[in-house]
Amino acid sequence: MTPGRPVPPPLAKPLPGNPTRLDPHGSTQHAPSATARPAAAYGATASDSGLVPLTVARRAPKDDDVEIAIEFCGLCHSDVHATRGEWGTQNYPLVPGHEIVGRVSRVGAGVDDFAPGDLVGVGCMVDSCRECDSCLDGLEQYCENGMTGTYGAVDSRNGDAVTQGGYATSVVVDRRYVLRVPENLDPAAVAPLLCAGITTYSPLRHFGVEAGDVVGVVGLGGLGHMAVKLAKAMGADVKVFTTSDSKVAAARELGADGVILSRDETSMAAADRSIDVIIDTVAAPHDLNPYFRTLRRDGALFQLGLPSGAMPPVNPGALIRRRIAYAGSLIGGIAETQEMLDFCAEHGVVSDIEVVGAGQLNEAYDRMVAGDVKYRFVLDTSTLGTPSEKADA
Ligand code: NAP
Ligand code: ZN
Ligand code: ZN
Repeated sequence: MTPGRPVPPPLAKPLPGNPTRLDPHGSTQHAPSATARPAAAYGATASDSGLVPLTVARRAPKDDDVEIAIEFCGLCHSDVHATRGEWGTQNYPLVPGHEIVGRVSRVGAGVDDFAPGDLVGVGCMVDSCRECDSCLDGLEQYCENGMTGTYGAVDSRNGDAVTQGGYATSVVVDRRYVLRVPENLDPAAVAPLLCAGITTYSPLRHFGVEAGDVVGVVGLGGLGHMAVKLAKAMGADVKVFTTSDSKVAAARELGADGVILSRDETSMAAADRSIDVIIDTVAAPHDLNPYFRTLRRDGALFQLGLPSGAMPPVNPGALIRRRIAYAGSLIGGIAETQEMLDFCAEHGVVSDIEVVGAGQLNEAYDRMVAGDVKYRFVLDTSTLGTPSEKADA
């Protein structure tokens, strides 16, 4: 284990597109005079509206675009924060969803790396500047000019339209931000890998986790359960910190080697100086100082949750005495996301999911906030209905 070891160089970027090619049956794969097609969707019209049926405009595929018929979309806690305005002002109407899996329906004339019928995914970003040091390093999520989020972001390469996410029947995305989904995995259970999976995989890899390391996971929700599965697949010894007595047995079923009730001081004291790296996924403000005490010298705590309220202050003494690093981490780059999907295909890792229909979305949000989900809700987009002629967003 090498603390802070940099991520391996990004995988090769997709090659620039070739002109239109023919499919084996002789018909073109591209849409020569592509038309825009609206999508049926669910989204919020205000911070207190809940999720309601909407129709979103989807652009006609441009040369480098891939149009995807969405089959499944995971429900991330970030969707709750965003639609309810917990992260500040939003552009409404807002269709959330950045754990998208579906099949390619049309491609632009310059696309030769995807074809209709391919199983693909889209995560938390649909564009970035492609020129800054972070983009050139394959770390588009840290784009110095601001990446374009999959929903609620101003899309400067597409007429400053506000992006609308994956609780919808289709989406159009530049091929550079489309992932290839392995066919050997359940597509519904793959959807959460596009955010919860990559967000936990990236810091585990950045820290250089390998067999024998002890990984602590704080919060056993969507991100947390993926952190457990991924760290186990990397060969680590995994300890889960949970506030929920009801999740002790469940954590062990997921593969955790130890479970610590974080509200129990005796249980926390027993974990003193036992962990190399902590992945903290808690969605609400909480005190980190008790967790620092569980880290060994040169340990690190990656905070992934982005609570809307202020966190209690960090005690510098807790960091200094054992050279402990306190870091954040944002999703992962496109190449690393593909690497994660391929890793999951090799190790048979997917999310534990509960599939819901459009009519259950609001209840699913409430249950997520109450911690009542094992471990990710996934929307079946076949329940969204058909778009109306006039788009709402
Ligand atoms: P989630 O499924 O709701 O899981 C969060 C877990 O935190 C809960 O299951 C619960 O686990 C624990 N928790 C402890 N105290 C809590 C409290 N007072 N309120 C709510 N949860 C509490 O959420 P998620 O989808 O995994 O997302 C977790 C956080 O990560 C969110 O803030 C989200 O916005 C953020 N996020 C960040 C990134 C990134 O790139 N950094 C990406 C995606 C999401 P126990 O019951 O085990 O205690
Ligand atoms: Zn997310
Ligand atoms: Zn950039």
